[in-house]
Amino acid sequence: MPFTALGLAPPLARAAAELGFTTPTPIQHDAIPAVLAGHDLLATAQTGSGKTAAYALPLLHSLQATDARHTPRRVRALVLVPTRELAAQAGEVLRSLAQHLPQRPKLAVVFGGVSINPQMMALRGGADVVVATPGRLLDLVQHNALRLSDVQLLVLDEADRLLDLGFAEELDRVLALLPARRQSLFFSATFPPEVQALAGVLLREPLRIDVPSAPVEEAVILQQAYRVDTNRRTELLRRLIKTQGWQRVLVFVATQYLADRVASKLHQGDLYATSFHGGLSQGARQQALKEFKEKRWDVVVTTDLAARGIDIEQLPVVVNYDLPRSAVDYVHRIGRTGRAGESGLAVSFVSPASEAHWHLIEKRQGLSLPLEVLPGFEPTETAPPSAPGDGGQGNGGIKGKRPSKKDKLRAAAAAAAADGHKPD
Ligand code: AMP
Repeated sequence: MPFTALGLAPPLARAAAELGFTTPTPIQHDAIPAVLAGHDLLATAQTGSGKTAAYALPLLHSLQATDARHTPRRVRALVLVPTRELAAQAGEVLRSLAQHLPQRPKLAVVFGGVSINPQMMALRGGADVVVATPGRLLDLVQHNALRLSDVQLLVLDEADRLLDLGFAEELDRVLALLPARRQSLFFSATFPPEVQALAGVLLREPLRIDVPSAPVEEAVILQQAYRVDTNRRTELLRRLIKTQGWQRVLVFVATQYLADRVASKLHQGDLYATSFHGGLSQGARQQALKEFKEKRWDVVVTTDLAARGIDIEQLPVVVNYDLPRSAVDYVHRIGRTGRAGESGLAVSFVSPASEAHWHLIEKRQGLSLPLEVLPGFEPTETAPPSAPGDGGQGNGGIKGKRPSKKDKLRAAAAAAAADGHKPD
């Protein structure tokens, strides 16, 4: 089915085709007509489902149909996202999709961690669409650079992640500045009670869309687990990359320090490897991401910062060098591969100390993978004695789907103590 059949203007369908989007994904198929009809939306959507275009296309279409006059500080559509990377990415999608519209909307992408002045300049004369992280958006409101009382369309992208990152208070403040009469679109990968509560206050008789295609369920991701001693993981990683011919590998580790250390060890070992984490400057992060997308790096070693919201196309291999803290994080990490119908490989390293935690992740995922051992890498470490509530990296368990705040603090303290550095 072509995009025009969903009611979109031909210039939008043309821009979508130029991005390689010829057929709508399931979420686009359901969301686009609903948004064009003016409904609020409550959508369960993972990164990789095509959710960005699912809101970007009808948003751009609707803007064409309404009064385009810019008045100072006026914003017509607001897209709230949890991270700078997602802001940049959503901005890119909106810009590309808008390129053939007769009246090109004015787009501003704003996020923290960089100077506010250029963003204030960009907002002069108002903007049709603002893509923002909540903290910087409020700073800009405070600086009188924009006002939110004319927002007609609000998009909350990755609402669960917004709350995870502690943006609840900022969100409340932003919502208080929005007009009551508006259309709201709410996207979240998961729906824990706090996300449901937020949706409850935000949406009016929303249409509910569930795309039941979590990456794990799509079965296009081949999952493997290797047993290995903790101190031989880098060696195993290098061996697998070389012998399996892996190209473009995303490796997840527990701390920023480890990301730098593993990347530098691989680099010394003849691989183009770099690290990517929250301790790098915004410029360095964007540069690393850009270069990785341009296929200039073989390996990027990262923390959970990159587990969500970052769109690296056709990423063939994800490695859990350190296991994720929860089964939910496991899904998000391995969702970095096998995207948009591509097949992918997700490999987890399981040390004697993390084996019990691995089995919990497996159980929650309904998985049962053979624990493989590469000849020459037979584990020799012994598992430490069980420590209740140790955040999951040892023999302790994960209690709920997500670790509690206390678990997170404990895990962070343990990681920091182990590495002598700050976790991400
Ligand atoms: P998202 O879930 O928005 O992060 O999109 C995931 C990936 O799917 C991105 O690489 C998009 O470029 C791609 N994509 C989105 N919509 C389509 C479509 N209709 N056909 C093919 N690829 C798509």
